Order: sequence, then structure tokens, then C-alpha cells
Amino acid sequence: MTPFDGFLADSDAVAAAMVARDGTILEANRALERLLGSTASIHEIVVPAHGPVVTDLLAEAGPSWHSVQAGLVRRSGDMVDCKVWALAQDKGVLMLAEPLRAPGEKLNALLLELNSDLLGARRELAAKNRRLRELDELKSMFLASATHDLKTPLTSILGFAELLGEEGLSPEARRMALTIENSAHRVLTMINDLLGAAQIMTGELRLERSQTDLVASVRGALEAIQPAAWASRVTISRHGPDSAVAFVDERRVLQTLDNLLSNAVKYSRHGGHVDVTCEVRGPNIAIAVEDTGIGIPIEEHQQLFGRYFRASTAIELGIVGTGLGLANARSFAEAHGGSLECISEPGVGSTFTLVLPQGSVDS
Ligand code: ADP
Repeated sequence: MTPFDGFLADSDAVAAAMVARDGTILEANRALERLLGSTASIHEIVVPAHGPVVTDLLAEAGPSWHSVQAGLVRRSGDMVDCKVWALAQDKGVLMLAEPLRAPGEKLNALLLELNSDLLGARRELAAKNRRLRELDELKSMFLASATHDLKTPLTSILGFAELLGEEGLSPEARRMALTIENSAHRVLTMINDLLGAAQIMTGELRLERSQTDLVASVRGALEAIQPAAWASRVTISRHGPDSAVAFVDERRVLQTLDNLLSNAVKYSRHGGHVDVTCEVRGPNIAIAVEDTGIGIPIEEHQQLFGRYFRASTAIELGIVGTGLGLANARSFAEAHGGSLECISEPGVGSTFTLVLPQGSVDS
């Protein structure tokens, strides 16, 4: 709210205008139009002899009220002596003109009213801020308990669906078990994304590092994504050494790999292929996930790691997602002192490369 909104706009007592520093009138109230006529510039209504004082007032207007005496030309053509006040605002300079014949209390009362209006607005803002903080706390509590309460039953759904798939079931029943496992895995990924985003936003992301074999992590993530890959008829190959150890938070790395692999499968067409390559690059370990999927337009690459971002290629095909996974994955990589980058072309495919320092217990 600017002080010009509300009562000043309708005032009959004091002519008021929001004026640009060069004198252009940006907004005028009713009294100004009634007294002085509609005009484009403040200079048009100032008696020429008083021009410089009004120009100086306008140029020097600051955060507290200043005034000069000046003659203004009424719409009828005669001159009226006024006290002209100025106060700098975001939009320009708020100018008030009080005819000197009118009782001065009018303006004082108006300024008082203006002040109390601002005070009221400030109080209202403080109350709204308090309410927002309370809602924010409530949201965090809800998120923490909901994610925990949802994850526990999901983990057993996943486990039992996996076991069912291993039993000697008919092909139809096996397909159903696979669908349960696949869907439960997707919901679990979404919950982990939400929880991860909440931890990053509230600054509660803490790494629990240990010596971790990243190749074993890749194998674990591949196993978890396999049902989805079968369902979409996407084949996956792994390349690189049999072991590559780094000092990392294993759970976060698994979550990152899970995100990159689920995306590679989710955004692939039937019959697509995914290559996962792990290699040691000097002090770092790089894991590249390359797919032959739908790709991402080059002009969207910059926003790709932003929270809630979804590429047009995914939206056009109606593929669902939260847009949180990549933002989390990059935050996790950077928290380790590493990076996550993407190269992608629509219709050709995408390669996401996660680089993590090998680190050590002392790092
Ligand atoms: P989502 O839950 O939407 O998959 P992500 O944060 O993991 O969220 O990814 C953000 C967006 O980036 C996706 O919605 C999708 O548009 C795009 N994207 C991510 N990975 C790929 C990929 N491998 N191929 C094509 N598009 C991708």
C-alpha cells in the first residue's frame, strides 16, 4: 500500500499527486483535479516565478516531509497561494498542496491520519507474519510426521511385492506384483524428494559420511529401478570398475542415484536404453547416467535444477513428477563438495553426470 492509496485518493481537502522527479504527474487525487484541473505535469500549474522552488523541492524530496510556499494556477485561471509539501516514495514523490487560506489544521490532521494509517498497516503486517510463521511450523511438523508414517507401510508394500515376484506365480500375477512394486517405488521416491526438499529449505541437511563403495550404491539403485525399467521395456547397462570408494553420505548418494535412474527410465520411450558409467577422475569419482529418452530443450537447461521445474518435453507427454528430485540431487552433490551437470537434446537423450570427491575420514 502506498500512502496515496485509500483516503488521499478521494480527499477533497488537499490536492495530492504522485509525481515523477521530472514533474510528470503519475497519479492525481480528486481535489487536485477539482482545484487545478487535469494536467500532465506539475510545472503546468506552478506560477512561473515560483517554478524554481517547486523544481528544487521535487529534486530534493527525501524520506521526511519538506514544504515551500508557491503560487498555483487554478483551472479558472486565477492564482492561489499554497503550501506545497513533498515526501519521497518508491513510485516517485508524493506532493500535497494546501491553499494558504484554508485552516492549516486540515493538513496536520491529514498527516496524522496518514501516519496512523501506516502504523495500522505495519501492525497488520506483523500479525500476518506471525500467522505465516505458525503455518510454516505446522507445515514442517506435518511433513515430518506424514513422511515418516507413510514411509513405514510403503517399505513393507515394496518388500512383500518384491518377495511375491520371486514366488512361482503365473505370468499375470507376476505382472501385477511388478506393478505394485513399481508404483510403491515411485511413491517412495516422491516422499523422499519432499522430505529432502524440506530439509534443504529449513537448513537441516546434515551429511552422515562413511567410507562407501559407490559402485555398490549404483548396483543397489539399479536393482531398485529394475521393475520400472522392465515395465517400460528400457534396458540398462553398467560400465566401469568393480569398486570405487568415497567418503560420502550413503543414503543421500543412493537417493541421488535413484532420482537420476528413475528419471532416465521415466523419460525414456519404450525400447530405450540407459548406460550408467562410473569412473575415477583424479581425486573425484564421476557417475554418468545417459539415456536415449525425450531430452530437454536447450533454452530450459538453466532452470533445470530449480525447485518445481518441469521441462516442456515432460509436460507435453503428460509424464507426472514433482520437479523436486534434481534440485535436491544438486544440493546433495554440492553439500559433498561435488557437482551435478546435464547435457541434453530433445529427441536424442540426456546425460546427467554426478561428480563426488573421494574425500577421506579427515576431509
Ligand atoms: P520430476 O519429479 O518432475 O521428474 P526432477 O526434479 O527429477 O522432477 O526433474 C525435473 C524435470 O527435468 C522433469 O520434470 C523433466 O522435465 C526433466 N528431466 C529430468 N531428468 C530427465 C531426463 N533424464 N530426460 C528428460 N527430462 C528429464
